[in-house]
Amino acid sequence: MCEITQLEGAARLLDPDAAQRDMLLKQVIAYAHNYLEEISSAPVYSVRADSGRALYEFPITEEGINIGETLALLKENVDSTGINPTSGRYLGYIPGGGLFHSALGDYLAAVTNRYAGLFFASPGAVRIENMLLRWMADIVGYPEETAGNLTSGGSIANLIALVTARDAHRITGEKINKSVIYCTEQVHHCIYKALHIAGLDNCIKRMVPVDAGYRMNEEALDEAIIGDKKDGLNPWLIVASAGTTNTGSVDPLSDIGDIASTHKLWLHIDGAYGGLFALCQECKTVLQGMNKSDSIVLDPHKTLFLPYGTGAVLVKEQQKLYASFNAEADYLQNILNEIGEPSPCDLSPELTKHFRGLRLWLPLKLLGVAPFRAALSEKIQLARYFYEQIRSIDGFEVGPYPDLSVVTYRYLPKRGDADEFNLRLMQTVQQDGRIFVSSTRLDGKLILRAAILCFRTHLNDINEAIEILSKTAKQLEAGRG
Ligand SMILES: *Cc1c(COP(=O)(O)O)cnc(C)c1O
Repeated sequence: MCEITQLEGAARLLDPDAAQRDMLLKQVIAYAHNYLEEISSAPVYSVRADSGRALYEFPITEEGINIGETLALLKENVDSTGINPTSGRYLGYIPGGGLFHSALGDYLAAVTNRYAGLFFASPGAVRIENMLLRWMADIVGYPEETAGNLTSGGSIANLIALVTARDAHRITGEKINKSVIYCTEQVHHCIYKALHIAGLDNCIKRMVPVDAGYRMNEEALDEAIIGDKKDGLNPWLIVASAGTTNTGSVDPLSDIGDIASTHKLWLHIDGAYGGLFALCQECKTVLQGMNKSDSIVLDPHKTLFLPYGTGAVLVKEQQKLYASFNAEADYLQNILNEIGEPSPCDLSPELTKHFRGLRLWLPLKLLGVAPFRAALSEKIQLARYFYEQIRSIDGFEVGPYPDLSVVTYRYLPKRGDADEFNLRLMQTVQQDGRIFVSSTRLDGKLILRAAILCFRTHLNDINEAIEILSKTAKQLEAGRG
């Protein structure tokens, strides 16, 4: 007994009392407060020779250290190194979010630890997830009976959709080698990863040509499908993009939807970056036709500004998603519900599940949808503004007019290699740390991008970015870089 009591004493450290909780919370809140106050002036990118290696000098040990020292380690080695995606001056890749209201949702979800995988275990958490999925289904124009899943991100969401498509079209065994997938070179690389994991590497992949705006050419798609059918192949899947990562281009979804339905192919739309722009008026036309797809991926940790760890997949025919992911086990007997609310564990590879819905539900309840719509409209208009401004500066050339909120551009130096120059321009700007832009390759050329999606990015940030880019380009050209 004595030993048990001793163990209890040590184990009770895991369960702080009210006073200890209060002390911990105060320090964490102060840390977060300080972090948020400093965002607007902190560098958006910090390169340090040690890149936080000092963490290793404080290994995990039998006894803990105090909260102050721990937070100091975090500040020094984690929150002051690398990219800061919560900054409004972060315009690289696809920016992330980090809504404060979501952080509060995460705090509550972790404290209450509702089991969000099974309806019976937490009817409320499952209802919240399903309600959010139906809300998103409505945004993309899917019917009420749509099923889906809140995932950790777009990559897993794409994997779930492609496995569902594979099973629905019974792409197995010998058939794989004769089955054809249609996409463009602009498709996100997580699609290839998903096909690999799904055992579909040996499918034939047709890269459909794109137009001058890097959008799928729908006539070429139609011809390719007809040709492949004639050749005795099995066209079965089209992967279209509602906003490519590279250029933000949106494939002609409505026409592609008609082609998919004529030829009875599964149409999957990767809308991880762009799909949720359907919330704002500016994008209704360009995103028209999303509802013609069989499955779609959305990424609230991009386009609803959530902290990382929230993607979503929607599948129009509930039964198909269920068919691919439900499983029964002896230890899960008698817990399937008759209410008609599907359990997330029957619609995804996960069983035990974080109460992920709360970080989306809480901000939507507290703020309503209106500020999200406004922020997305603002991003679209900022991208158009950036495009017009950078284009008007001597020496810069721009890519296609942005479909959404990614702008491509480059500087054309009077002398020397343009690729080298733009790489140097990007690196100089990144090292300066006031703004962050990234690059890509288009038609064999190195192109700079500005992806405008952080909820903290406003007009003054864009003006600053334009000024820094243009000044740095001139300095480098004058040999003062
Ligand atoms: C970001 C992105 C993905 C991958 O999503 P993750 O959330 O990073 O896993 C897929 N497709 C597109 C178009 C994206 O922009």
